[in-house]
Amino acid sequence: MGKVTSATVLQENGAVERYDDPAQALSAGAEGRVEFCYPYGPDLMPPEAPTGDGMWRYRALLPIEGGDFLYPLAIGGTPLLAPPRLREATGLPRLWLKDETRTPTGSNKDRATALVLENALRKGVRTVSCASTGNVAVSLAVGAAAAGVKAIIFVPAEVSEAKLKLMLLVGGTVLKVREGYEAAFELSRRAARAFGWYDRNTGVNPLTLEAKKTVAFEIWEQLGREVPDVVVIPVGDGPTLSAMVKGFRELMACGATDRLPRIVGVQAEGCQPLIKAWENAQSVQPVHPETIADGIAVGAPISAALVLRDMCESGGGFVAVSDEAMLEAIRTLGATSGLLAEPAGAAAFAGLEPALEAGLIGRDETIVVHVTGTGLKNPRYLQPKSRSTEVSAALEEVERALKMT
Ligand SMILES: *Cc1c(COP(=O)(O)O)cnc(C)c1O
Repeated sequence: MGKVTSATVLQENGAVERYDDPAQALSAGAEGRVEFCYPYGPDLMPPEAPTGDGMWRYRALLPIEGGDFLYPLAIGGTPLLAPPRLREATGLPRLWLKDETRTPTGSNKDRATALVLENALRKGVRTVSCASTGNVAVSLAVGAAAAGVKAIIFVPAEVSEAKLKLMLLVGGTVLKVREGYEAAFELSRRAARAFGWYDRNTGVNPLTLEAKKTVAFEIWEQLGREVPDVVVIPVGDGPTLSAMVKGFRELMACGATDRLPRIVGVQAEGCQPLIKAWENAQSVQPVHPETIADGIAVGAPISAALVLRDMCESGGGFVAVSDEAMLEAIRTLGATSGLLAEPAGAAAFAGLEPALEAGLIGRDETIVVHVTGTGLKNPRYLQPKSRSTEVSAALEEVERALKMT
């Protein structure tokens, strides 16, 4: 524990006055000029730090050769939060939040981008392409800019303006496809083949699954080398879910655990092709997505086969949530846990209550909710229910305003 032993005050004339009692310095009317001092010496240096290499910590289970990593952004090693107020509010004593909002661009896509670009850098690839409803595109644009690789990005024409600005700001080449996401996806695949670009598309490039599975390894380590009972995951195309299961399956194969967690997959009410396929035991019927949650607005998921197999193997199930429930989940996560999510990022938490009601989750179980994307990238969906009060600069006004609220 750090111990402040004295304090200094910088005088108007540049001289430094020392106070043995730091509190005295603070009360000396020297606001803005007080600095704390410690009993400096080598023993105050931190102990040898852990490797601090995030996702690369699991390189033995990643398809990457030895040697130094070239990708310049820090990736993985996101917190697993034990949110006390949310545990109390929900009555779930062993609820955890895996916080994937804290990555270079605030979504779980950054893991996949990192491994794809690491591979591209090692192979001397010049151009990487993808199609995306938003987060993959931002992730690739930013990662490619940092790595010095050209990014060519296909987005649906109705892409979020805020996310589009981010892609352009960092120098991404963006093509808006009028016919929507599915068409953008097909076009990007064809273009990559025709023009010899490296295709980052999730579900096509297996490195994306490999990278995303590391989140399971982290959860296991963060729970003291135990697997949780349940992991709740938002599902769009599905690789996030499949990668999570692959990670836990590999932990089993390595003898680190003897079971998989149950998976609860959460789709938007306005876009639930996987739920329909699961419930009716049939192949996926494409739908037109109608949801604010762009991260999971995938009407024709190409990773469906893996998702349905993994769901079956995990013994879990699906729930659907409304846009309104996601907006409410954003408010709750923010107000109880200091976590600012976007609609798709809050979908798993929104799915918790319906999953409890459906008997997919028990209240005493160890539950990990996957929070996959930040709300700061598109503030449009941060919709508070309270208002601020305007005051004049007078104490009475403050009193009156506080009584009013
Ligand atoms: C991509 C994404 C998901 C879901 O990912 P899939 O692998 O396509 O199922 C969930 N949340 C956010 C914020 C995303 O960006």
